[in-house]
Amino acid sequence: MDQKELQFLKEITDLQGTSGNEDVVRTYLKEKYVDVADTIETDGMGSLMATLGNQGPRIMAVGHMDEVGFMVRAITDDGYIKFSRCGYFFVSGVLSQHFTILTDTGEVDALCALGPGMFTDKYPEMDQLVMDVGCTSKDEVKALGIQIGDFIVPKANFQQLGKDKKYLVNKAWDNRIGCAVSYRIMEELKQIEHPNIFIGGGTTQEEVGTRGAKTLGYLANADIGFSIDVGIADDMHGQAKEGIALGKGPELCVMDSHTISNRKLLKFAVQVAEECKIPYQVSIMKHGGTDASEFQHVRSGMPVLLVNVPSRYAHTPTSMIHYDDYVNTIRLMVELIRRLDEDKVKEIRNF
Ligand code: ZN
Repeated sequence: MDQKELQFLKEITDLQGTSGNEDVVRTYLKEKYVDVADTIETDGMGSLMATLGNQGPRIMAVGHMDEVGFMVRAITDDGYIKFSRCGYFFVSGVLSQHFTILTDTGEVDALCALGPGMFTDKYPEMDQLVMDVGCTSKDEVKALGIQIGDFIVPKANFQQLGKDKKYLVNKAWDNRIGCAVSYRIMEELKQIEHPNIFIGGGTTQEEVGTRGAKTLGYLANADIGFSIDVGIADDMHGQAKEGIALGKGPELCVMDSHTISNRKLLKFAVQVAEECKIPYQVSIMKHGGTDASEFQHVRSGMPVLLVNVPSRYAHTPTSMIHYDDYVNTIRLMVELIRRLDEDKVKEIRNF
């Protein structure tokens, strides 16, 4: 494993960026893109677009910058914090976890706890949970700088598991891994000839309803679009019930709740993966959607393909991906994009 690559992955997942609060992620990415991109722009929703090249069809492959988190909704008289979801957080992953509250004056550590009088074996509802910041009154909480509307993010804890340390654990793989892949594609394409304009970057507010994708999709005005996100591996407890497993390659997703990938683009991706001997998995996501749901019908429509890096435990404070899947997603995307010339794009866009 490349240590520089691991450091990049740690840095990008450590960043605190819930939906609507992607500033630090955008700043981090902008600084990286300065070295490789020809142009860098943002739209009115804060989504980031970087381009490379100035001729040929426009090919976009981006991830979303935001991660699931919470927002301070109320402070109780006895010094607890009630919160609302910013994106879909599974309640089963939240209790007793460590969080950070981002205030105007700095960060405050918090522990997710049961509400008063709730000490029980029964799993609580989200609304029964509170954040405990070690205070006994509303005034004490306010003195820490905490206000209604402050964002709450899970604590980062990057780890490498397994005998070869390739199982990577942290918060926010969903979807900093997509942002990382998008950036790395551009780095790779910068070294080689490619017959198109590549558009990388990241969208905002995906986890609350693919909002930043709507505006970035319009701004990008691409001919072909890929959304790079995490997929759901079902190999937990050692059994891949339906075949999607960590370490077996990127997922080419045929369909999710909001998008059906373009069939010609999907077949082309399979053909390129076979030709280049890059492992891949064909999947269908039963629940949820990604930015592709917006890209597909922006302007007069865009053929899209969902490319997912398999993950376990998404939408909890700690998820897991496999290093090889990250590397193979970049490899496959670069091979695909370098083959998307004017003729191929015409063929895919011809209905
Ligand atoms: Zn996602």
